Amino acid sequence: MTATDTIAAIATAPGRGALGVIRASGPAVPALLQALVGALPPARQASYRAFNGVDGAPLDAGLVIYFPAPASYTGEHVCELHSHGNPVLLHALLQALCGLGARLARPGEFSERAYRNGKLDLAQAEAVADLIESRSLRAARSALRTLKGEFSTRIHALVDEMTRCRVAFEGAIDFPDDIPGDALAAAEYPRIEALRNAIGTLLASAQQGAKLNLGATVAIVGAPNTGKSTLLNRLARADKAIVSAIPGTTRDIIEIDTLIRDVPVRLCDTAGLRETHDPIEREGIRRANEVMNSADLVLLMTDHPEPSNIDALFIDLGQAPPPDTRVLVVHNKIDTRGAPAARCQAEGGDHIFISAKDGTGLDLLLETLAEPLGVESTEENEFVARARHVAALELARSELLPLDLDLARHAPELTAEGLRRAADALHSIVGGGGSEALLGEIFSRFCIGK
Ligand code: GDP
Repeated sequence: MTATDTIAAIATAPGRGALGVIRASGPAVPALLQALVGALPPARQASYRAFNGVDGAPLDAGLVIYFPAPASYTGEHVCELHSHGNPVLLHALLQALCGLGARLARPGEFSERAYRNGKLDLAQAEAVADLIESRSLRAARSALRTLKGEFSTRIHALVDEMTRCRVAFEGAIDFPDDIPGDALAAAEYPRIEALRNAIGTLLASAQQGAKLNLGATVAIVGAPNTGKSTLLNRLARADKAIVSAIPGTTRDIIEIDTLIRDVPVRLCDTAGLRETHDPIEREGIRRANEVMNSADLVLLMTDHPEPSNIDALFIDLGQAPPPDTRVLVVHNKIDTRGAPAARCQAEGGDHIFISAKDGTGLDLLLETLAEPLGVESTEENEFVARARHVAALELARSELLPLDLDLARHAPELTAEGLRRAADALHSIVGGGGSEALLGEIFSRFCIGK
């Protein structure tokens, strides 16, 4: 599908800089270039030219690159103008392009055109936005793997295998006398099992990749004065929370965004948990409970020298343990006891012994955090994924779950239908059958000029 209009946008971030880049895409690009920089520059080569304004007078001079269709980012005629990074100049140039017939691009419209013209599939187009947004090198590398098509290749391989398998079962529906159910099931069922396992593996990579994208929340809770704020400051490598020896200082939630093992983590320092009649402190404790229940991980701070039962620790604080959130008990202030940093499983929980004040045991804590945050494995097979991808993989796996050997033997039509639905779910990741509403939703979150 080729667009009939030509779009233009400033592709560099707002503000002043050495360079500012304007990009245009569409059928009018050759004509725009001729009007703006004189003769059409040679394809895919940087040429130094004067850039003319609406009145034809030179506005600036810089490099221009012309990418004739279809060998361009969008698959259409594209040009880039590398001007000086002055917003006034860039807007004047953009105005000149619009005066010559281009229109302002919507957010993500260049990538949307690349998708519609088959230059990128949907997962790759999303990876472009993720690469720009990534908050760590690890996230950027994972996004690049997806952009290069590694994730999509694996999705396509699974869809192809499902289709091949489905066709075999459909053959048994059409020719029941020629294809005995037992022989078919014996040949094809192991393939369904292998597909289920492969989806499980890909799902694990995608879930891990989604963490790089979405991040995780860690709530630091415990009695007043156990060192929650001190730990937060250590983990965030900044003095953001008020550290004080007066119990009840942190009454509201202090949130700090940081990276732990390259995963964006929101650390929440909460009000000290204890029985209190002070209405402000009680509100702080209510909020602490709320954060605790929605966090991915709770660090329960205590200065007990020995491991003790997690439920008992919460009861001492007058609180119920969070029902679904994993809790790691952090025994702080080992420096006061001259004890070494350590980690142990005891009393039905995971315990770690540190000193938030002098940093002893911090590396051990970070190592321990990586596992519950789901980021412990190496990044080789990680793809920056979105919640949409994880949901589609889960759906595909659940479509394959009821397909057991018995069903494969006796109900080829149900087996074929399950395989078809699983393939459709996976296909939606790369864009197969994506609705206009979904595309609008995905591309509207991109930045302008991308
Ligand atoms: P919070 O109320 O739980 O946030 O506790 P704070 O972080 O405000 O710390 C309370 C007091 O304990 C402060 O005087 C801290 O300096 C001190 N503290 C925190 N962590 C340690 C530690 O590991 N060792 C020692 N000796 N003191 C600590």
